[in-house]
This record gives sequence, structure tokens and C-alpha cells, in this order.
Amino acid sequence: MNRYLVAILLFTLTFSFAQPKSPYEFLPNYGKQVSHYHQVEAYFQQLVKESDWIKHEKYGETTQERNLNAYYISTPENLKNLEEIRRNHLHEIGLFPTKNNSKSKAVVWLSFNVHGNEIGAIESALLVAFELVNPNNKETKKWLEDIVVILDPCLNPDGFSRYACWLRDVSGSKTHPGLYDREHMEPWPGGRQNHYVYDLNRDWAWQTQRETQFRMDLYHQWMPMVHADVHEMGYNEPYFFPPAAEPYHEQISPFQRDFHKKIGELTAKKFDKEGWMYYSGERFDLFYPSYGDTYPCYNGAVGMTYEQGGIGAGRAVTMKNGDVLTIKDRLEHHTKAILAVVELSYVQKEILTKEFRNFFKDSRTKPKGKYQTYIVKDHPKNAELLKLLNRNRIEASFADESKKLTGYHYQSNAEKVFSVEPNDIIISVDQPRAVLTQVLFEPHHKLSDSLSYDITAWSLPHAYGIESYALKGKVAFKMKSKVSVINPEKSNNVYAYYIPWNNRSSARVLSLLHQNNIKVRYASKEVTFGDVVIQRGGLIVTKGDNSKVDNFEKTVGALIVEKTDYKVLETGMAKSGGDLGGENYPLLKAPKVMVLSGNGVSNIDFGQVWFYLDQVVEYPTSIVDVQNFSRVNLAEYTTLILPEGWYSFSDNQKKTIEEFIARGGKVIAIGGAVSQFEDREGFHLTKFATEDEKTQAQKILEEQELADRFLEVENAERRSISSFVPGAIVENKLDKTHPLSYGLGEQYYSLKTSENKYKLLKGAQNIIYVPKNYQSSGFIGYKLKKSLEETVTFAIDNYGQGKVIYMIDNPLFRGFWENGNLLFSNALFLVD
Ligand SMILES: [Zn+2]
Repeated sequence: MNRYLVAILLFTLTFSFAQPKSPYEFLPNYGKQVSHYHQVEAYFQQLVKESDWIKHEKYGETTQERNLNAYYISTPENLKNLEEIRRNHLHEIGLFPTKNNSKSKAVVWLSFNVHGNEIGAIESALLVAFELVNPNNKETKKWLEDIVVILDPCLNPDGFSRYACWLRDVSGSKTHPGLYDREHMEPWPGGRQNHYVYDLNRDWAWQTQRETQFRMDLYHQWMPMVHADVHEMGYNEPYFFPPAAEPYHEQISPFQRDFHKKIGELTAKKFDKEGWMYYSGERFDLFYPSYGDTYPCYNGAVGMTYEQGGIGAGRAVTMKNGDVLTIKDRLEHHTKAILAVVELSYVQKEILTKEFRNFFKDSRTKPKGKYQTYIVKDHPKNAELLKLLNRNRIEASFADESKKLTGYHYQSNAEKVFSVEPNDIIISVDQPRAVLTQVLFEPHHKLSDSLSYDITAWSLPHAYGIESYALKGKVAFKMKSKVSVINPEKSNNVYAYYIPWNNRSSARVLSLLHQNNIKVRYASKEVTFGDVVIQRGGLIVTKGDNSKVDNFEKTVGALIVEKTDYKVLETGMAKSGGDLGGENYPLLKAPKVMVLSGNGVSNIDFGQVWFYLDQVVEYPTSIVDVQNFSRVNLAEYTTLILPEGWYSFSDNQKKTIEEFIARGGKVIAIGGAVSQFEDREGFHLTKFATEDEKTQAQKILEEQELADRFLEVENAERRSISSFVPGAIVENKLDKTHPLSYGLGEQYYSLKTSENKYKLLKGAQNIIYVPKNYQSSGFIGYKLKKSLEETVTFAIDNYGQGKVIYMIDNPLFRGFWENGNLLFSNALFLVD
């Protein structure tokens, strides 16, 4: 043999790839038992090792330190040029400055298992990846010449692992297809959500969770043209694929709709061949912007949801029609449907690419929405807003001059003359994320159908509680790209520090001061010291209160550094409003907090409280399962938080809570938890303030029932929405003199997600309530709309030495209502 041949042979032996194994060959129980997360990762490692059609990127880590993984799948040649392909792709939509010679490819992103317990999704990711790289599958090899697939097998590894480990725990050698077997009864809090029990599929736009933040970094580096989000639903449901249901948001383009229709037709053909049941167009709408289908749509992609019946099915379950549904069935249905996504993207590649690029061009030159410029007045809450815009890659600049303008004023819901001042945020839709910008800032969204799957209003100026304007045209004036931060001046003569109470950093700093045993007061009135005006709620840390603290300036200075707007007071003597030693500065006590969790508590609402305490204000908390409540000595706590739930306290437990309040304890009851105090002796929570109101409401109900006798059953669901609110923004009036309202602004816009309502209470403090003729945005049934007038949203009921704070609406809903975070901080730290 000549030495060239030897060299070639050696080269081939060293570098050639073995045949990648299918998941059925690699994992002995594939399709019969849920895979562990490490097995999923090992399977993909094997593919990466044995095939040059797939490449791995770890893009982040979960709270529980599991890897977040993305896999690029395309021809070996495309994978070698991946970075060039990406840059060129971004260049075409105005997101990368230079062009290169690489040929354009369609970018298709496949997301699996955002809901951890929907295991048919993650299991199918293995088979989808295998079919894409499988050398014997000539068809997929042809598609991949024109396509780069980005495949994320599991968006929620912590939730998935919680479910998978549990299912393994309760599995015997035989399956249990019977309905009530424990294999189908997942324990609280369930694996659907992530570590903090947040629903990651409601978090795409708000990005409160680390999984979302990492993923969106990668997403925006790639900006896919097609995004498929793979789910499961109740196991008796036939398969769901696009088109989605109405309402479609008006920003969804005709092409996006058309692609939905085409994918529906192609998938139907494939399912017909197998005789599989399916439906489309009926349930999952395209409106709320924070889903895995809508968010990509508002970013130019064709976003789609896929749903297989499977939640609670365990390894196998008997369905209503008598058939047994297995993991293998679930994953094979998904594989068929998701491969069709790649196939259609290949078939439609030309028009897909063209329309994707047009989306970015047209949306900035011919914007569809009503407004083209948004102006947010300079405010400390803007720091969080800017973080959100940045995470969504929405460009913002700052005014650098003063000017008078006319625009829509969010807070009064009317056109108004106003003045722009330096440092106000200016957001123009003349930018690549024009559509997303309009969707997030739009004050009123057009609903093509009122039966929506989710909340119907989310406008950022109301969520953040910052005075804002929307303008129909472009505005020209001097702008700058940054606001310079003025560092607080140093002083050698510190008498006290003043820390304004105006954003979440204020609460974080107070949390830190409490944890370091620094004594803190707050201003209960507006006061002036020299040229410093102290607003209500402003935190005051005096040297006099903290005489035992070593090196006061250094110690306190380090703790409050996050609040860049703090001020030094050199004297305790006020110019107006009362000296620091007077009665206007109550001393704050560090709360000792207990939160209830477990069966009977809404898992996601609990998660929102937990995340707020653990991550937003980083404050130590005891979390106690309801079943252990009787074993706790409540005297060790000052504050008991009851998240939304269906509590069934015994009489003894109710008495314990009453005694806790009577002794000076504070209960924060959220959503349905307030009903624990409804019509209870000594408390003032009643649905109606007067007998008249009650009789009136009963009369209306009875008239309605009489009229309804003649109606057909068919439209009952549609009719019922007249008393329904899927999630709308409602204007509230505030008692600004009360600590519960400090820092919130002139009004409070509450996100109302339930029909539960209480007329203004007698004998309690109605601090934040819905006035007559209130402003609102989003869908509220016409019957409910009127009856919400003069109902209370946040009230305080004094009982003995203590109190209950009723939160009819949940201010921590999905963590994105920034003013709600501040309101909750008021309840936790300032209300005493
Ligand atoms: Zn799901």
C-alpha cells in the first residue's frame, strides 16, 4: 500500500463519524418511561459526537444549576459558516452593520418543554433531532441545505426534573393506566413551572426569570423566521396545531396568518395518513405578547403553538375512548408535526425570507399602530423600565432639550399639551423592533374576539406607573443616548441619610438596612431640609438612632449605594414640615415574615410572593406548608402572608390567626385569600356596604335569570363573558397620605384578573379603590364594568392591635407590574 493511501485510511479511521444512534437505540426505556434530564443531555452529546450536522451551545444555567442547551442543526458546511450566516441574516433586517458573502438560510427555532410536566414535548425533541441528522433520512438532509434549525430540547429543566424524578419515584414495573392512580396525580407545586413556580410561557416579554433572560439573549442574537413552541394539554384532547384561534392581534401580518394556514394544511395531511385525531383554529389565540407564539410573531417570525394531549398521563393512561395513551404516542405525534415545520419552512423558504425582511422594513416605514413615538417622563422607576426595554432590544434615547408637544396622555386617557424635558425617555417606532414597541406601549388593543385565553391589557406606562405620552408622528429634537448619573455629594458632616421611596431599589435598600440592624425611619409628610425636599415614605437613617454602629458613614453608605438618588442631611432642623426628632418620622420595625405554601395555596401565586421576597427584595422569610401551620408558634412572626388560595382553616386555626392579629400581627391576604375574613365578626369585609346595595344586586341577578330562561344553550359561554374580566387595567384612586400608597404616583392602575369585588368597606380604610367613571383598558364584560365602580382594591382592616391588608387584585401578578412590586413593598415594610 502506498503511503498516501495509508494516510487517507488513517485519516478516515480517525475522523469519520459512526452512525448516530436513534433515541430508541440509545435509551432502553425511551417512549416507555420518562427520561432523566442527564439522559437527554447524554443523548444529544452522542449526536454531537457522531454527527457533523449538529453543534451544541450551552446558553445559560437554571436556578438549580442545570444547563440550558441549544443545538444548531444544518449541513456540515452551513455549521462551519454559522457565524457568517447569522451576521448576514441580521444584516438584512438592520441588526448588523456589514454584509458578507454567505448565502441566506431560513432560521427555524424549535422550543420544547417550556412547561416541565409536558414531557411528550422534551421526549419528542430527541427524535426530531435524530431525524434531522439521520444520514438515512434523505429528505431532512435536503431541507437542511437551506435551513438552520436551532433546537432547544427543554426550556425549563428544573420544572421538568421535578416532574421526571417524581414520576420515576411512583413508577412500578407495571404501568397504571387507571385514572386515579397516583402516577396521574402530580403533587404540589407540580413540574409545569420553574424553580420559583413561575410560568415561563407567560414570561417571554417581561423576562423576570433567569431561564427567559438567558434564552432571549440567544434569541435576539438569532431572530428566527419561524418559531414552534411545543406543549401538552389535558390527555383526552386530540392534537392541536395552527392556525391559532381568534383573537389575533392586529399586528399579526397577512403572511404570518397565511403561513399558519399552510402549516395547518400540511400537518393535517400527515395526520390524516396516520388516522390521528386533531383540531386547529379553536382554542389558542394570538394576543397576549408574552407567549412562545405571540412574542416571536411580534419579532417578525411565524410563531406557533403545538399541543398534544398528555398532562397527567404519566407513562400510560386510558382515555375516554378506551384507548391507552403512552409516552411513545405523544412523542411520535409531536415529531410528525414538528418535522412538518422544518419541511414547510424549506418549501416556503423564498417567501419566508422575503416576508421576514419586509416585516422589519415595513413596520418602521409604514407602522400599523396608532402611535409612532412614546415619551416617558424622567423618573427613578425608569431604571427598571430601561432594563426591560434593553432585554427586548427596544432602542430608547433621552431628550436633551425642553420642548412643548401635544400627545395622548396615558394617565388621563386624553390628548394634552405637555413639555418634554431633558432626560425624558424617547422611544420611536422607527427601529427594528417597531412592532414589539407598539404592542408593549399601545394604550388600547383592538380585540377581534373577546374570548381571549389571557389578559387583554399590559400597557407599560400603567404597569410602571410613570407619566407617559404617545404621539402620532415622529418628533425631531435634540437627543442623547445616555443619562449621566449624578453621584451623591460626599459630606463630612452627616447627620442623617435620606433615601427616596420611589422604586424597587428603595425596598431592596430597606431590606438590606433591616438585615444589618440599622434603625430606619420614614417621613409621613412632605418636609424640606435646606434644598432637599423629602417626599412621603422617604427613608431616614439618622446617626442619633444608630449610635452603636461603627463608622456610621462607611457602613450605611455601603448599604444604600444602590439608591443613587440618596441625599445627605447635615442637620435635623427642617426648613418646613417638622424636625427629624419630631412626630413625623415613625421608626420602622424589621418584619418577621411567614408565607403559607402547599396544598390549597395557588402554586403560581405563591411563587410570585416567594420570588419577590427571595429575589426582588432579598428578604429572609419562613415558608410554611399549610399542613404544618398548627405546629408553628405565630408569636415568632410579625407578618403572615396568605397568597391566593382555597384555604380550609379549622376553627382553631382561624382563632390562632385572629389572636395573632389582635396581638399586633399583620396579615397580607391576596386575591381569593381575602375571603377568609369575609363576613367574619370583628372584620369589615363584606360584598355590599348596605342592605340596599345587596337587594339591588340580587334583583338584577334575578331579572337576568328570568330573562335567560328563553335563551338557547349554544352561546352560553359567549354570554357569560358579560360579567367576566380576563385581565384588564383599571384606574384606582389613592389615599396618598397612607403608607400603602407611598411612591405610587397620582393614581394606581391595577391589573384586574378576577371578577371578585367588594363595595367600599364600612369601618375599614379604603386606601386604593375604583372611582366612579374610571378609566380602563382591555376587555371588561359590560355588566361587570359598571359594577366595579366604587369597589375597593386595596384596603386595611384594623383588628385589636393589628391589621389585615386586603389585596383584591394581586399586585405581584407575573412579577412584571413594577408599580405593584412597590405597592407590595409598602404593605410589607411601611404599613405598621
Ligand atoms: Zn404548555
